[in-house]
Amino acid sequence: MHELAIAEAVIEQVQRELHRAGQRGRVHRVELSIGRLSGVNCDSLRFAFDLLAPGTIVEGATLHINQPTATCVCRACGKRTPIEELVVSCPACNSEQISIEGGRDLLLQSVDVEGPCESSPPRKF
Ligand SMILES: [Zn+2]
Repeated sequence: MHELAIAEAVIEQVQRELHRAGQRGRVHRVELSIGRLSGVNCDSLRFAFDLLAPGTIVEGATLHINQPTATCVCRACGKRTPIEELVVSCPACNSEQISIEGGRDLLLQSVDVEGPCESSPPRKF
């Protein structure tokens, strides 16, 4: 995925959220959840965000990125193993009868605005 396009989508999403909530304050913190298997380079995303932020609603805001792990679920031994990169077999028993849960989501977790702020649930962007 292209990090510049993602940063653009994040900024648009923040604008929509604030508009929806009727917020007019300055954004000082944006928190994202980027799954470890999403293929997104977080350093590049930070760079792109800083590049695009000036002149937008998130100018001067801090970008905080959480990177949740994925889970390998094994149908052979029943183990659920947290993984940080894609695996093709169960780390516990080596069976290939596995499925991978999570780790690919891109979520806008929270937006902190100066002044009173209502919290909203995480949203995909
Ligand atoms: Zn197993």
